[in-house]
Order: sequence, then C-alpha cells, then structure tokens
Amino acid sequence: MSSTASGKNGTWRNWGGNVVARPAREVTPASVDELAAAVLRAAEDGLKVKAVGTGHSFTSIAATDGVLVRPQLLTGIRAVDRDNMTVTVEAGTPLKRLNMALAREGLSLTNMGDIMEQTVSGAASTGTHGTGRESSSIAAQIKALELVTADGSVLTCSEKENPEVFAAARIGLGALGIVTALTFAVEPIFLLTAREEPMPFDKVLADFDELWAENEHFEFYWFPHTGSTNTKRNNRSAGPRKPVGQFAGWFEDEFLSNGVFQAAQWVGRAVPATVPTIARISSKALSARSYTDIPYKVFTSPRRVRFVEMEYAVPREAVTETLCELKAMVDRSGLRVSFPVEVRTAPADDITLSTASGRDSAYIAVHMVKGTPYRAYFTAAERIFTAHEGRPHWGKVHTRDAEYLAGVYPRFEEFTALRDRLDPDRLFQNDYLRRVLGA
Ligand SMILES: Cc1cc2nc3c(=O)[nH]c(=O)nc-3n(C[C@H](O)[C@H](O)[C@H](O)COP(=O)(O)OP(=O)(O)OC[C@H]3O[C@@H](n4cnc5c(N)ncnc54)[C@H](O)[C@@H]3O)c2cc1C
Repeated sequence: MSSTASGKNGTWRNWGGNVVARPAREVTPASVDELAAAVLRAAEDGLKVKAVGTGHSFTSIAATDGVLVRPQLLTGIRAVDRDNMTVTVEAGTPLKRLNMALAREGLSLTNMGDIMEQTVSGAASTGTHGTGRESSSIAAQIKALELVTADGSVLTCSEKENPEVFAAARIGLGALGIVTALTFAVEPIFLLTAREEPMPFDKVLADFDELWAENEHFEFYWFPHTGSTNTKRNNRSAGPRKPVGQFAGWFEDEFLSNGVFQAAQWVGRAVPATVPTIARISSKALSARSYTDIPYKVFTSPRRVRFVEMEYAVPREAVTETLCELKAMVDRSGLRVSFPVEVRTAPADDITLSTASGRDSAYIAVHMVKGTPYRAYFTAAERIFTAHEGRPHWGKVHTRDAEYLAGVYPRFEEFTALRDRLDPDRLFQNDYLRRVLGA
C-alpha cells in the first residue's frame, strides 16, 4: 500500500505534504479484537484515537497527537454474497485491491473517483465521489457497516439495523468510531466507453444541462487563463473492449497528462509569468479520443503530479454561474493558476453529512501544484463557493467551521447528536473535528 504516512522521527505526513502530525504512539491491529483493545487502552491512557487510511486527505481530518491506528493489517475481502450482490471488505483495504478482486469475480462497483489508492474506509469517511447523473459517491454504495465505538464495543448498522447510525456513519469523518468492515453493493462487471474531447468553456457552460442529461457520467476540466476545457463522457457500452492503446496510453496518460504536465508545473512554479502561455499550450495538446474498458480502468488513473486541492459542492443549478464568477476572478486577479479546475456532478443522496445530502450537486475543484502558494487563490475561490451555499469536501482544504456548516447541512444536528451518544468523551476528537463539528 502506498501509505504516505512517514515513520521517520515519529511524524505522519499526508500525500499533499501540507499536514504533519506527531502521534504519541502508533498501533497496527490485525483483528477487530486487537483494535477494540487498542481503543480501550488509549482511553485509559487519556489519549485520543485516530484511524488513518493512506493520508490522501488535504485537510488535517486524519491528524492526531494521540494514538494513530494504521490500516495495513485490516485488509482483504471478507465475503462475496452473489444472492444479494454485495461484497464485505475489511476497512483498511485499498480501493485498488477491492476493484481488482471484484473484477476477478466478474463484479464491479457502480461509480468511483479519479484514483484508487485510498482505503475503502478513508474514501467513504470523507465522502469521496466521482461524477454521475444517477450514481453517487463511494459511501452511497455502502449497504452495511461495522465499527468499534468509544466503549470498545462493535456496532453494526444498515438500512434496517440501527438505521440512524447507518445514515451518518457512511460519511462519519472518523468522528463516530473506527470502521472495521464495509459492505458494498456490487453489480456484474460492465464496460464503459469514455469519450474525451476538448470543448470551448462557453460551449460547455451553455450546453451543460444537456451534457449532464445525455451522459451517465459527465465531467470536464477548465484550463484557467484560457477559454478551453477537456470534457469526458463515460457511458455503458455493449463493447467490444477497446482499451486505450499501449502507445496512446503511454503518450496521453503518462507523457501528456502526467509527465509533460509535471514539467510544465515545474516551469510555471519557477517562472509564474509563463503560466498563461503554458496553460494555452497544455490545453491545446490534448486531442479527442475514445476507449472502452472495465469501470475502474475508465474512472481512475494515476496522479503523479503532487498538488493541494479545495473542492466545494454547490447546488447543481448554480454551477454555470459559479464557474463564470470563478473565471472572472482568475482573469482580473494577478493569480497564475497552472492547474486545471475539475467539474463533476452527483445526485442528491440520503447520507447526513454527504456533500450531496438532499441536494443535486455539482463539484468544482481548484488545485495548485505542491510547493506553490495556494492560499490567495483558494481564499478567493472559497468566497465564491460559499456565496452559493457551497459544502466543502471533508478531505480537501477549506476554512469552514461548525457554525457555517450547520447552516448548509439541514441534518447537521442529527449528526452531532449521534456523536454525543456514541462518543460523549470525544475519544475520536482532533483539531479538525473540533472546528467542523464543534467541541
Ligand atoms: C491524488 C488524489 C486524488 C483524489 N481524488 C478524489 C476524487 O476523485 N474524488 C474525491 O471525492 N476525493 C478525491 N480525493 C480525496 C480522497 O479521496 C479523500 O481525502 C479520502 O478520504 C482519502 O482516503 P484515505 O484512505 O487516504 O484516508 P485518510 O485521508 O487517511 O483519512 C480520511 C478520513 O478517514 C478516516 N478514516 C480512515 N480510516 C478509518 C476507519 N477505519 N474508521 C474511521 N475513520 C477512518 C480518517 O480518520 C480521516 O478522518 C483525492 C485525493 C488525492 C490526494
């Protein structure tokens, strides 16, 4: 597992390199019993507890100065249930391993995000999502969940069993307990045809509603300082399988999307004035292409350029206005933004603190390459997103607090009441949770 957590000098560091923590001690439990014992021991010692995944969150949501619980020995498939079309996995299983195991069984998740390095529990806990017209986040595909709570007991939940826990714990922010197993809905593996196509920014915005309505999964990247975007439409297909050609795969994905992009980022970081020119060249370097493959090979790809990211969900009907404001802000500012802005969608879901809870949503994500100053850009973008009642991704940079979040999440108090019940002494507390949920 590509855990970014560094063991050096007792520090833990996230993937983006913008969060560092110094836990009092680390444990790597190999069973639910060992995990429960570690939770009780931490409470006896007066230490907080935090389970981490692979550290792919850009916020300090996984940081702790108490006991850090590592996921490496809580991995693997517990059961595949073909009658109910579900798979139950240990919480520390990387998404990559889940996807590959499912494919071997002729099964697949319905939707996923851009990468598959994260653990299933880490990805679910922060509301990790891809893009979809009907299909939603990783957490929304969960059918049942098992967690160890602050008193060391094991609690299971589903729509029928402890439904009030199930409603919240699928995106639990690590605040309700330590997840030990997740049961996902699966379906027979299918093929997706991806169509990637450059398109002018104004046209994407003008046609956004049709592009969304006509495709199962629509997303696009806008290149700041340009009027160019690259669109991606993924739709189910009868086949045949036509993977990205070996050369095209290398050229487009490794050279253009990662290698050349990385070089462009280095030049832009060294000489910011060149960023708009580089953006124009990069956006033109992409060409239209189609390919057909199994879902995880179409949804996900490696990300070799390290970056820092902020992402907000706004009501879907506000997406074009929000993007116009973002573009106007970049154009009139002296900012030099070398990283594309990603735009995705999700249907409303029923999870208490899901960014799409009860509301059809569009996601707008801004990025800056690791090592470049990002605060001025993110602050200006955040002002625009919050003016549209935006909900920040729990795992991506934002400055919102409990007071703001209570205003944009109608079920906020339902979550905090459950937290009061399951973790009255705040064993799973950290600075981030204190800020976003209150003390
Ligand atoms: C390159 C890159 C690409 C990304 N792409 C996307 C994307 O396409 N869509 C998207 O929505 N997000 C995306 N993200 C964000 C990422 O999916 C989330 O931040 C996710 O939470 C990271 O999972 P992780 O396993 O690294 O968890 P961590 O970041 O280590 O932890 C996240 C949270 O999960 C909690 N947690 C972990 N394990 C447990 C457990 N067993 N029990 C209880 N709580 C637990 C932690 O305490 C913490 O609160 C991306 C991030 C990166 C760096």
